Amino acid sequence: MSLSGPTAAALPPAAVRAPAATGRAHLFHTGSVEHYRRVLADGIDRVAGRVATAETPFTGVTPEQLAPRINGIDLDRPLGDTGAALDELQDVYLRDAVYFHHPRYLAHLNCPVVIPALLGEAVLSAVNSSMDTWDQSAGGTLIERRLIDWTAQRIGLGPAADGVFTSGGTQSNLQAMLLAREEACARAAGRPGVRPSRPEALSRLRIITSVAGHFSVQKAAKLLGLGADAVVTVATDADRRMRTDELAATIERCRRDGLTVMAVVATAGTTDFGSIDPLPAIADVCAAAGVWLHVDAAYGCGLLVSPTRRYLLDGVERADSVTVDYHKSFFQPVSSSALLVREARVLRHATWHADYLNPARAVEQRIPNQVDKSIQTTRRFDALKLWLTLRIMGPEAIGALFDEVVDRADAAWRLLTEDPRFEVVTRSQLSTVVFRYLPTGAGRRLVDDANLYAREALAASGAALVAGTRVDGAHHLKFTLLNPETTVDDVAHVLDLIAEHAGWYVRTRTAGELSCPVG
Ligand SMILES: *Cc1c(COP(=O)(O)O)cnc(C)c1O
Repeated sequence: MSLSGPTAAALPPAAVRAPAATGRAHLFHTGSVEHYRRVLADGIDRVAGRVATAETPFTGVTPEQLAPRINGIDLDRPLGDTGAALDELQDVYLRDAVYFHHPRYLAHLNCPVVIPALLGEAVLSAVNSSMDTWDQSAGGTLIERRLIDWTAQRIGLGPAADGVFTSGGTQSNLQAMLLAREEACARAAGRPGVRPSRPEALSRLRIITSVAGHFSVQKAAKLLGLGADAVVTVATDADRRMRTDELAATIERCRRDGLTVMAVVATAGTTDFGSIDPLPAIADVCAAAGVWLHVDAAYGCGLLVSPTRRYLLDGVERADSVTVDYHKSFFQPVSSSALLVREARVLRHATWHADYLNPARAVEQRIPNQVDKSIQTTRRFDALKLWLTLRIMGPEAIGALFDEVVDRADAAWRLLTEDPRFEVVTRSQLSTVVFRYLPTGAGRRLVDDANLYAREALAASGAALVAGTRVDGAHHLKFTLLNPETTVDDVAHVLDLIAEHAGWYVRTRTAGELSCPVG
């Protein structure tokens, strides 16, 4: 074995080395590639070992148990040795982390990840391109642009489309609302006789979304300086999809009140119910009213590559902007998201030219500087993960994985409808199942508490993780199925565990009440 770089064995112990020399040994450079190979292989080995032996998705560790272990570490006294640091990491993180690859992790919108994307992650962080400018990324910029074009094409946004990778759906939605706000203000300013003062104009802007829309819309409105009542929510139908008649009525009401609707946010895959708003009908309403349509497909974007369910996104091609989270339904590691726009020119609202970085003349010289389109400056080359995924697996393989979890959710829904212990809310178009334990004869409050208790007790046991949410004021439980490895048996087993915990709670409370002295 040729060891051209420094190795742990070749170096004196950390304590006797000068700090500068210690630092140099750990820099990633021409002379340290063997060290890099060994250290990363060691790290991968620890993760592989932990994943290979994970019997449950969680250990049930509490913050009180974990905090002293982490807080007790003196960050000013390094271990100096990779193996020792990995041993310590095992103790403070790897052992008790929450594992999304586990088939009984059924809680939030976290997917197990595909190995080509993990390879991409390792490559992108080592090369460490920054996507703000061509002169910090070269091919990275072009790869990202190809993936944006590929996604825009899958959506059907047309020849003028563009977009940019972002850190997540929250950032994609924020940027979409920024663009919509600026377009709305520009239109208002161009109207004859209108001279809007900025704060006045901002307070009159409205965003309309459904009651099942994502909270990042409200957060975006707040960050963009809109009024506290800027987001108007409209009702959903029995399937938790935006009611188009209510949308039209709300736009009309805003207009009568002298308010400007700057955007309608339709959700293609609501976080709780996996419901897809009626996109064609909403697009009709938006077109008639001249309102910006943003489609939040953070969750539903996996349908873009589904071999059997692409039709569920029909109408998305009429959006002015679209949020996609590859880290939700493309089996990509966090973070990987994008904002797509129908008209590339609207991205100018995110442009600022800095002499040192992206001077205006670079535009004339046709130098592709992605910072001109992003609200970030230094930015990860997250696109590489999707690139390797597509080059190794191909889109249909990803879509087939997503199809599988949608099928599984439907099987889980069927199981629940046939189980007298539970009540199920809606049949999801994607892969969530919202339900609750509902024993006969128990009061509303007790049912609420029993479901809350079951979720916590299950998490504390570590055996499975499920999410919770409120539906029409009542506490419910939620499965989000994103793991093709999850079987119907896993689901049935978790339902039994929930019924056991919730049943125990109901029994002890009822017994407690009965034995309570009346008075
Ligand atoms: C998850 C989610 C978001 C937020 O995305 P992040 O990547 O978590 O920032 C936005 N909208 C919907 C519908 C989501 O499910």
